[in-house]
Amino acid sequence: MTWRVAKSLLTLRDQIDAAVPNRSKASDGTIGDANHRNRNSDHNPWYGPGIVTAIDITHDPANGVDIDRLTDELAASRDPRIKYIIANGLILDSRPQYNPWRWVKYNGPNPHTRHFHLSVMPNPSCDDPRPWNLPSLKPNPSGGGSSPATDYEKLYREQNPEVVQMDLIVGRHSRYVQVPKGAKRVCIACPRDKMSARIQWHGSGYPSTKGQFPDPDLNNRDAKFVAKDSVHMDIHAMRPWYVNIPKGARGFRVNWTYTPRGDRDSYVAYLGFEF
Ligand SMILES: [Zn+2]
Repeated sequence: MTWRVAKSLLTLRDQIDAAVPNRSKASDGTIGDANHRNRNSDHNPWYGPGIVTAIDITHDPANGVDIDRLTDELAASRDPRIKYIIANGLILDSRPQYNPWRWVKYNGPNPHTRHFHLSVMPNPSCDDPRPWNLPSLKPNPSGGGSSPATDYEKLYREQNPEVVQMDLIVGRHSRYVQVPKGAKRVCIACPRDKMSARIQWHGSGYPSTKGQFPDPDLNNRDAKFVAKDSVHMDIHAMRPWYVNIPKGARGFRVNWTYTPRGDRDSYVAYLGFEF
C-alpha cells in the first residue's frame, strides 16, 4: 500500500530541521515499524488515503531540540491540529474526553524520554501545512556567533557560580531574585512531584513610588510592579516552567508552595535564566 505523512507533520519536521540542522535523528519516526503495525497506532497509514498522522522527534537538548520545551510550546499553542502529544512520561490530549490540554501521567510501555510523539487529528486539518507556533525555534535575530547575549550569560555564570535553589519543603515560601542583564526567560525546574509558583515582577519606580514596595532583599527599594504576576499552579517533575521576563523587570519575588507525595518530605527546585 502506498502511504504518505500528513503535511502538517512534515511542516513541523522541516521547521525543526531548519532551526537545528545538525540535530540528532536517532529516534525520529513517521511510519510504524512491524511492532506498530500489529496494533492501533497513528504511525500506521490508517487515515484517508494511507496517511500517517503521527511523528516522533528525537530529544537532543545539546543541539537545541529539548522535547520538554517544544512540547510545552505546542501545548501552549493549542493548535487545533493536535490530537495528542507524549513526552517524558506525560501525555496531553486535546480531545474533550481526555482532560483536554492538560499533561497527565502516561502509562504506555514506552515513556518517550528519547523522543516526543505528536499525533494530529484524523481530519483534513492534518494536511494543513501552516507553520507551528514554536517561539524557541525562531532564529536568533542578532545572527548568532559572538552576539552580546552570549556574553551576558557568561558574565552571569561567572558572578553566580551557584544555581539559585528553591527549597521544596511543605508550605509556602518566598525569595527575591534580581534579573541579570540580558536575561530573556526565567526557568523553574521541580525535580520531584509538583509545585506551584507565582512571580511578582518589579521594576525601578523612583520617584513615583517613594518606597511603596520596600523589600529587605532588594537593592532598589523603590520598586514598582511592572507586569501582571506570572503564575503556574502545576510545575511537574521533568517539565520546567519557562517564563518570559517582561519589559522593565529588574527583579522579582517568587512565591512557591510544594506538596510532597513521595517518601521524602523535602527536595530542592532550581531557578535559572536563559539569555
Ligand atoms: Zn510515536
